[in-house]
Amino acid sequence: MGIIKTKNLVYEYIRRDEEGNVEGITTAVDKVSLNIREGEFIAILGHNGSGKSTLAKHINAILSPTEGTVWVDGKDTSREENIWEIRQTAGMVFQNPDNQIIGQVVEEDVGFGPENLGVPTKEIWERVEESLKAVGMYAYRKHSPNKLSGGQKQRVSIAGVMAMHPKCIILDEPTAMLDPNGRKDVIRAARALNDVENITIVLITHYMEETIYADRIFVMDQGKVAMEGTPREVFSQVERLKELRLDVPQVTLLAHELQKRGLPLPNGILTTEELVEALKCL
Ligand code: ADP
Ligand code: MG
Repeated sequence: MGIIKTKNLVYEYIRRDEEGNVEGITTAVDKVSLNIREGEFIAILGHNGSGKSTLAKHINAILSPTEGTVWVDGKDTSREENIWEIRQTAGMVFQNPDNQIIGQVVEEDVGFGPENLGVPTKEIWERVEESLKAVGMYAYRKHSPNKLSGGQKQRVSIAGVMAMHPKCIILDEPTAMLDPNGRKDVIRAARALNDVENITIVLITHYMEETIYADRIFVMDQGKVAMEGTPREVFSQVERLKELRLDVPQVTLLAHELQKRGLPLPNGILTTEELVEALKCL
């Protein structure tokens, strides 16, 4: 079994009026079955409201399934006695770094997580150092988080999660509020945790460019997994992605347009370098 597995996962938000009568039901996740192996870098794409955040919240047991089952490292998330361990296994980074940083000094902030887990003090400092180095923020360890840029704050949040030594980190649109440089730094930090520490990464984003290095992409639509595959497989299907109201990376789109006009280019070109190479070979 993979580190994250869901079987026929359904989640319904139920709206009630003041008397408690059901006013309406939104099926936010609809029979999703997926299996993520330890060490994979997974990207989840999908337009607003497609169910990405609801799915993510099941992975660290913030939400419990309406139907179906979610296992994290083999543990059923619907069982109360597993929640503590699941939250240690799967850490979560959210969109707005301002809501996640609580310390007055960067290194203290990163230390809160392991401290809450009861990690001995000496080890906390080792973890803080290791985590800040991993996200490239060690030089800022004595700084006040308030003075950092959005991208830097987000990297501190990631270090805070990493310091709890999770096997898996879920990032729910971590770059949505950042400028392009901040976005790049955050994605680079996430990739490094995956490459170097073998931490399983689930990256939810709507920036296509951030997904091209993923091992696999899941595309969500109306609560279901509408597409699944490697970036090349997914981005080869330009028309299908448009139907799902998603963009494709600009260079992929350009290659697709050239193809439609008769240039014999391969499908699913993901980077400028690949396009240049393919054009040279014509
Ligand atoms: P995404 O993260 O892909 O934008 P969400 O998981 O946030 O999607 O939302 C999926 C669906 O569930 C949407 O229709 C959304 O309106 C609905 N939804 C999300 N959160 C709530 C909530 N707290 N109460 C009621 N409906 C919600
Ligand atoms: Mg969301």
